[in-house]
Amino acid sequence: MRLVTFSRGIGAPEPGVIEDQKVVGLGSLGYPSMLTIIENWDTAREKIQGAAKSAAGLEISSVKLLAPIPKPNKLICIGLNYRDHAEESGMKIPEVPTVFNKFATSVIGPGDNIVLPKNSTKPDYEAEMAFIIGKGGRYILADKWKEHVFGYTIVNDVSARDFQLEGTSQWLIGKTFDTFAPMGPAIVTADEVADPHDLDVKMTIGGQVLQNSNTKHLIFNIPALISYLSSVFTLEPGDIISSGTPAGVGLGWKPPRWLKPGDECVVTVSGVGELRNPCVAET
Ligand code: ZN
Repeated sequence: MRLVTFSRGIGAPEPGVIEDQKVVGLGSLGYPSMLTIIENWDTAREKIQGAAKSAAGLEISSVKLLAPIPKPNKLICIGLNYRDHAEESGMKIPEVPTVFNKFATSVIGPGDNIVLPKNSTKPDYEAEMAFIIGKGGRYILADKWKEHVFGYTIVNDVSARDFQLEGTSQWLIGKTFDTFAPMGPAIVTADEVADPHDLDVKMTIGGQVLQNSNTKHLIFNIPALISYLSSVFTLEPGDIISSGTPAGVGLGWKPPRWLKPGDECVVTVSGVGELRNPCVAET
């Protein structure tokens, strides 16, 4: 299933399922949010399948798609998780996962503007496959990972390189400007993704393919990440883990290719979807 969060006009956000190119709202089933669906998936799944078949859908163009989880409790990101990207960044290949996070205030949905901050001269893009935790837990064994992954989505891990890398050893501050976590357009449930470690990940801007790789090149794969992260803190339903970006970010081009007003970032992850966000200058 492809699950979305959407609003009708000025209405409140509501979860929905895409069926035959239409959105079927799920609020009337007693699920006010995507999180309540993820938390109750054992019983929600059949009800949603039934609603998808029987209820009349809304044209996608008639609703506003939002980030699938607009206010995630945790949005965890993995740095330097592709060998070629670590090399282009001038960083060592990590021996343990490099972990940082983005705050919920940075999350925007498909089609929303990425606002390029007036205090950064080096805004950059990162195409990433993200996975969503279903059943939570602590000390999750790597070989049990499939029991804990609810589904997959796309994140553009927008990054102000001057805030991230220059004169500071901290990552978070350059990663979590408002609008720096475009996400969506949908969560594709895990049963529909045959092998999440074989998905093409691409970034295209203005018709130019800037990043083009595959999740088979992840240094730390999903089982390794779930095991590592849950050895430190409890993973909960709806937590989002963005798995890292391959080579080809703006920082890696010569000369560097920073985001500018008028750019439209198009991230595709095969089998998961396409996420488009235009860039505008902060006023
Ligand atoms: Zn990233």
